[in-house]
Amino acid sequence: MQTIWPDQKKCSVALCFDFDAETLWFNGGKEATPTPTSRGEYAAFLAVPRILDLLDQHEMLSTFFVPGYTVEKYPEIVREIKQRGHEIGHHGFYHETPVTMDYEEEKEILEKGIRAIEEATGSRPLGYRSPAWDLSHNSLSLLSEFGFLYDSSMMADEKPYVVNPGIGQPPLVEIPVEWLLDDAPHFLFNFNPKYRIGMADPDKVYRIWKEEFDGYYQNEGCFNLTMHPQVIGRYHRINLLDDLITYMKSHSRVWFARCIDIAKYWHEKNNTGQGG
Ligand SMILES: [Zn+2]
Repeated sequence: MQTIWPDQKKCSVALCFDFDAETLWFNGGKEATPTPTSRGEYAAFLAVPRILDLLDQHEMLSTFFVPGYTVEKYPEIVREIKQRGHEIGHHGFYHETPVTMDYEEEKEILEKGIRAIEEATGSRPLGYRSPAWDLSHNSLSLLSEFGFLYDSSMMADEKPYVVNPGIGQPPLVEIPVEWLLDDAPHFLFNFNPKYRIGMADPDKVYRIWKEEFDGYYQNEGCFNLTMHPQVIGRYHRINLLDDLITYMKSHSRVWFARCIDIAKYWHEKNNTGQGG
């Protein structure tokens, strides 16, 4: 029976790492104080290498969404990610929300983020994830104008879908996210700003993610898992991810792919004229 995915696969899996580093703690664009900054350094120097090794062990490619500031602060690490075959996506510059920006401000942030990624890696990003998981009314038009092929910030479906930013503008593919499939709401802990629900039992999160994956597998979804190196990079959580990947790999018909590969496939499948 024909499926919606290539090679008779039943579902796709996109493992995504939002490599925010210290920008996660930039409150309204202000640079962070020393302790939150050190959490960013932990992400860059301990967590990212641990994640890259796990992905190598499983021979798996993924997508890292990286704010421009992080790219400029850790260019060698971003280059290393790219050299190992992973995709680098746009994730703002200071991890700022686009929602409250006017058109010009948002355009400038997009340009700065693109420039940072291009300078570090030699390639322009084709995918975008809003740091706020929310968009302004201009975001989709701007992304289309700048030649992005996809966004990954919205939640209307479990499969990718085509969005039309405006008349005469090239369409984008949306690769939807979901708060349940994000490590931060389960695990992130901090006093200011407050994230006090973190430190969940990894067995609980494994159960949630496994059962969600089962549903996506049955229903030909795109299981898009968002993780943050400073969150998932601790030993017991890396073990959870290792177990989850092993479980997903035990299913023969899963397409593990980078978001850009999924977006290009979806553009082609829907004859949008993009992504070929
Ligand atoms: Zn982020």
